Amino acid sequence: MRIATYASHSALQILHGAKKEGFETVAFGPAHVKPLYTKYFPVADYFIEETYPEGELLGLDAVVIPTGSFVAHLGIELVEKMRVPYYGNKKVLRWESDRSLERIWLEKARLRLPRVYEDPDDIDGPVIVKPYGAKGGNGYFLAKSPADFWEKAGRLGITEKEDLSEIQIQEYVLGIPVYPHYFYSKLNRELELMSIDRRYESNADAIGRIPAGEQLGLELNTNYTVIGNIPIVLRESLLMEVIDAGERTIKAAEGLMGGLWGPFCLEGVYTEDMAFVVFEISARIVAGTNPFVHGSPYSWLRYDFPVSTGRRIAMELRQGVGENRLGEILT
Ligand code: ATP
Repeated sequence: MRIATYASHSALQILHGAKKEGFETVAFGPAHVKPLYTKYFPVADYFIEETYPEGELLGLDAVVIPTGSFVAHLGIELVEKMRVPYYGNKKVLRWESDRSLERIWLEKARLRLPRVYEDPDDIDGPVIVKPYGAKGGNGYFLAKSPADFWEKAGRLGITEKEDLSEIQIQEYVLGIPVYPHYFYSKLNRELELMSIDRRYESNADAIGRIPAGEQLGLELNTNYTVIGNIPIVLRESLLMEVIDAGERTIKAAEGLMGGLWGPFCLEGVYTEDMAFVVFEISARIVAGTNPFVHGSPYSWLRYDFPVSTGRRIAMELRQGVGENRLGEILT
């Protein structure tokens, strides 16, 4: 068996971790990034210059580790139909990509969620407006009143309430972005806190570099294009709550879709009164785990040797091979 992934996102970490666990590795993707995975960082034993080389992957006895880039490039339909073994539960893809299903899941997990406004005329505080399918926060806008909303929505061609099916209006929660990365071992039935990051986003994190007076004149719109990730270590008294939130998310998934296993991330903010408000779940490895190729303070506390999320995935697969239980974790 070999471990394969699409050459982007967190592939360096996944393949590096796989090699640490003694697997041969396969990267596939555009030709121009090949040197990244074979020369500058030699983590891929095989590099296939294709978006999804199904035949070759089957021939190499590969298991695909899904990433956000892999799912985005292939599209959910193809991922659901792919014949190469996939680490994780494919049923979560639908739950995660549909904002209303995702909300049912997170509500069932009893997480604190931002209020959703069905009617823009109810807006009574700051809101963040999210068009469906927007990537990386592109196309989001902020508004503070019904009038402000209709003016900004008008620029997107949304002029009446009938046009609202393509957007979600969420309460804008003022807080510090915190993205805990979890790993749920289906084989051991155990949740682990792997690491925590915050995203470094342009231009949201750039606007503060301009004095307030000048910001007003520039009429800037906030964007959230992720440029990199920064490690966070949480105040210790917050850790139990973050872990409980992960446990409840797993429990809710068992009832709704037959379980969530492997890496996942809750994306939210911590408010000034120390409430963790979650606005999204990523049900697979997130790129925020990339600063932790050599492990994080949390994985160090648990393992006492360097364990990245990529390596933790490979450890699970190694255990699955050893106990003849791969069928429980591959779909
Ligand atoms: P991805 O799918 O890559 O995770 P996305 O495009 O769905 O990203 P979000 O993660 O929803 O984008 O949000 C982008 C940015 O907007 C983040 O920095 C997040 O902190 C901020 N944000 C999202 N929702 C809220 C909210 N309700 N209140 C405050 N900030 C928010």
